[in-house]
Amino acid sequence: MAFHDFIQLLKHLPIQANGTLSIEEAFVTGGGINLKEIHPKTMESKKMEGLYFCGEILDIHGYTGGYNITCAFSTGYVAGKSAGEQSLLLV
Ligand SMILES: Cc1cc2nc3c(=O)[nH]c(=O)nc-3n(C[C@H](O)[C@H](O)[C@H](O)COP(=O)(O)OP(=O)(O)OC[C@H]3O[C@@H](n4cnc5c(N)ncnc54)[C@H](O)[C@@H]3O)c2cc1C
Repeated sequence: MAFHDFIQLLKHLPIQANGTLSIEEAFVTGGGINLKEIHPKTMESKKMEGLYFCGEILDIHGYTGGYNITCAFSTGYVAGKSAGEQSLLLV
């Protein structure tokens, strides 16, 4: 599949909602980068050196009550600090 066709597929991905679950199950997003593919102390990808992930893109289902934002802040801090430290090593 050509790159342009792939982008069009992602932008026009047909999704059919089959129903709703209870409020306890009501997550805005699900899926994302599997945590098994991340070094938790640095948030660096195990698959690609120098690539860091944080926040919503991770496959974490935080319960309502601030856990998602806490996750975004804490993983963002670790990822940013680690990426900065690694970039200093490359200088
Ligand atoms: C309606 C709603 C209510 C929520 N309520 C809560 C709550 O009460 N408590 C809680 O803990 N969590 C809540 N969340 C979840 C929480 O907001 C997210 O988990 C958190 O904001 C994720 O932070 P993030 O930095 O990973 O992503 P985001 O906050 O989505 O930030 C991503 C940023 O990247 C920018 N961006 C995207 N593409 C590009 C690009 N190509 N180039 C440059 N910039 C780009 C976007 O504009 C955005 O500013 C709620 C979410 C929603 C949608």
